[in-house]
Amino acid sequence: MATTLGGCHFCFLMFATYLFIQFINEARWKLFPRKVTPEEIRFLDAYFPYFARLKPVHRREFLRKLETILSTKRFVPRGGLDEVTSEMEILIGATITMVIFGWKRLRLAHFHTILVYPNAYYSTVNKVYHRGEVNPKHGLIVVSWKCFVEGMADPADGVNVGIHEIAHALKLANLIETDGEHEFNPKAWTEYTQWVPAEMDRLRKGLPSLFRESAALNEHEFFAVALESFFERSQDLKNYHPKMYQSLVHLLRQDPLVLMK
Ligand SMILES: [Zn+2]
Repeated sequence: MATTLGGCHFCFLMFATYLFIQFINEARWKLFPRKVTPEEIRFLDAYFPYFARLKPVHRREFLRKLETILSTKRFVPRGGLDEVTSEMEILIGATITMVIFGWKRLRLAHFHTILVYPNAYYSTVNKVYHRGEVNPKHGLIVVSWKCFVEGMADPADGVNVGIHEIAHALKLANLIETDGEHEFNPKAWTEYTQWVPAEMDRLRKGLPSLFRESAALNEHEFFAVALESFFERSQDLKNYHPKMYQSLVHLLRQDPLVLMK
């Protein structure tokens, strides 16, 4: 009996500590929010087409959400990278903001830390080089800066490692209770998934598709690749598969073609 009580007390203490840390973190970013400077806004206008093309009302909303993302996530250099510069923070933060722009309060709180490697990095777990990954156990999003920039270099080729990894994080966050806002509306998710098997089948048979081959690996990869196209080749995807495009509009609560001027 004493052991059980001790265990309960211990659990309670752990839970109280967890809540206290959460409270401190919340208070910290509310008291000392990371502001986006006018230079950083000019930088976004030059290098982040999604932001540059937003209507004024949405630009303000985007900046407010970006500041929340920047204030609540830790950016940590890894693999010999000297520092995560403000430009890196801005572009990675803007990619997160873009993917979850349709939600009011969502900020993928579970993924609290972004690790930035200079190049593709070797994963001792899978024994391969990675361009990026998400680690739900430790709340990490990991990107190679070189691959991230390559993904952004052509904003209309439907290949973007940043969007890809954030898509994985969003899909995983949907399974974890975090932000007090539901990620995926179950009806919208069902609507989207009905179009996936036929497309994966086309890819596996080598038939022409808008999506690249790696989307056929599994439904997680398909989703991540689909979101790369949704944001970078919105009109192409809408022409190629209007129903899937519309289902993604419902799922992500935004239509990039309507949001932009
Ligand atoms: Zn992937």
